[in-house]
Amino acid sequence: MKDFLYDVIIIGGGPAGLSAGIYTARARLKSLLIESENFFSQLALTDRIENYPGFPEGVTGSSLLERFKRQAKDFGLEFSSSNVKGIKREENKWLIETEDRVYESLAIIIAVGVRPKRLGVKGETEFTGRGVSFCAICDGILFKDRDIVVVGGGDTAVEEAIFLSRFAKKIYLVHRRDSLRATKILQERLLSNERIEIIWDSVVEEICGKKGVEKIKVRNLKTKEEREIPCSGVFVSIGFIPNTEVFKGILGLDSEGYIITDENMKTNLEGVFSCGDCRLKPLRQIVTAVSDGAVAAVSTEKYIEELKSV
Ligand SMILES: Cc1cc2nc3c(=O)[nH]c(=O)nc-3n(C[C@H](O)[C@H](O)[C@H](O)COP(=O)(O)OP(=O)(O)OC[C@H]3O[C@@H](n4cnc5c(N)ncnc54)[C@H](O)[C@@H]3O)c2cc1C
Repeated sequence: MKDFLYDVIIIGGGPAGLSAGIYTARARLKSLLIESENFFSQLALTDRIENYPGFPEGVTGSSLLERFKRQAKDFGLEFSSSNVKGIKREENKWLIETEDRVYESLAIIIAVGVRPKRLGVKGETEFTGRGVSFCAICDGILFKDRDIVVVGGGDTAVEEAIFLSRFAKKIYLVHRRDSLRATKILQERLLSNERIEIIWDSVVEEICGKKGVEKIKVRNLKTKEEREIPCSGVFVSIGFIPNTEVFKGILGLDSEGYIITDENMKTNLEGVFSCGDCRLKPLRQIVTAVSDGAVAAVSTEKYIEELKSV
């Protein structure tokens, strides 16, 4: 069989892609990881990780990423910084098109992650990591005995508000409608929680502060009335967007754009695997991303072994 440039190309340099890279490079597959400069790994956005096993004192996202990278490089994983624009099948190989060139490989592992939907209001970007958060499980504990705001009305927002009530003194749930979209059981738990107050029919207009968040301005969509809510944190929980737009039309995605895989991380396309937050699954955390990455790598290894033996 022709010796292609790469056995496997991994798209995405977060925990899922790097974990896959550690396994494929260690299995002596010629492996390249392509990472976009336009999107950050979600891990790079978090200051302190306390729930990743092996780091009892906690670790910063950037230092954990650096460790994953060093380990992968030491096993021979190659890196390229570019934005992948599309993939195309040609005979028994894949073409991966980036902004500056086209790569060839026998297999692909897609680990492009998600990005949180943003409110798009003044102060949101400025205070991200300094009071504005997109992950309650990750950052909730930092707001012990503080007043905080959760924005959203779906299952995730309600779950996050309930979860945050373990730490925070008072939680304001700002929701743009007069009823919640969350499931009934969650609504019941929310409504019976004395620490949570719902601000109905309202949207956040601005997040204000100096060094960190100090208050938000909200507007009632029915009465048009404006009010200020003093708070130290704002959890934006209005959903996520998988970074899978470039694979639309070729890869099997669900209605929200998440990649559909089986338990071996196989997609609907031959030789294409996916892992991490961008795939359809119940829990999006570092520990599940690295686990997916390992499974995707082993499935890839088996696929390539079979392909080369034909
Ligand atoms: C603020 C915050 C705090 C968090 N804290 C924790 C925590 O404490 N504990 C925990 O377990 N989890 C935490 N998480 C969740 C965790 O970060 C994610 O579950 C994890 O990063 C998912 O890994 P991933 O590799 O699937 O995706 P990501 O880490 O998001 O990586 C995706 C990669 O794909 C690349 N990419 C995207 N599109 C393209 C493209 N077209 N071409 C090339 N490359 C592309 C990006 O550049 C990036 O390298 C947190 C998330 C956030 C936002």
